[in-house]
Amino acid sequence: MLNIVLFGAPGAGKGTQSDFIVEKYKLNHISTGDLLRKEIADQTELGKRIKSIMDSGNLVSDDIVVEMIDKAIANDTQGMLFDGFPRNVAQAETLDRLLEKHGRKLTCMISLDVPKEELIRRMLERAKVSGRSDDNEETIKNRLKEYEAKTLPVASYYEKKGQLCKVNGFGDIKDISSTIIAEIEKHK
Ligand code: AMP
Repeated sequence: MLNIVLFGAPGAGKGTQSDFIVEKYKLNHISTGDLLRKEIADQTELGKRIKSIMDSGNLVSDDIVVEMIDKAIANDTQGMLFDGFPRNVAQAETLDRLLEKHGRKLTCMISLDVPKEELIRRMLERAKVSGRSDDNEETIKNRLKEYEAKTLPVASYYEKKGQLCKVNGFGDIKDISSTIIAEIEKHK
C-alpha cells in the first residue's frame, strides 16, 4: 500500500499534483489545509478556534492536525497521499510513529522545489480566483516565513533517512507529474 508525502512550499503546486497522483494510484488525498478549511466552513468549535490563526498564515497546533491524521490513517484502506503534512519536524516524527502504529511504511517523500519568486508569483495569481482568506500579500509573506523557519527542516529530516526525492516543480505541469510518477515507481 502506498503512503506518500507530497512536500513543498505554499504555491509549489502540491494541490495540482496531488489531484493527478491520487487519481492515478487511487489514493486517499489527505490535505490538512482542506480538512482545516472544512472545519471553518462548517463553523465547528474547532473551526472557530483556528480561523484567525489560518488567516494570519501561522501554523495551527500540532495536536489538532495529528489527531486528524491519526483518524485518517485508521480509516484508510487504499493508500494515502499526505499533502501539507508534516509541516514541522515534530509532525514528521509523529507521522513515522503513527504509520508504524498502523503497520505501514512511508513509500517516499516527494519534495517539489520551486524558486521563491515563482512561489510568490503563483500565490498572487491564485489569490485572484481562490477565494482563500489567506491568499493575500501580507499573509503570503508570513506563510513563506513559517515555511522557511519550521517546514523546510522537514526536508533534511527525510534526507537523513534516505527518503527524500527532490523534484523540480518549475516547468510544464505534465512533465512535473511524469517525474513524480517515475519517483513513485522507483520506490513502490
Ligand atoms: P495549506 O492549504 O496546506 O496551504 O494550509 C493552509 C493553512 O492551514 C496553513 O497556513 C496553516 O495555518 C494550516 N495548516 C495546514 N496544514 C497544517 C499542518 N500540517 N500543521 C499546522 N498547520 C497547518
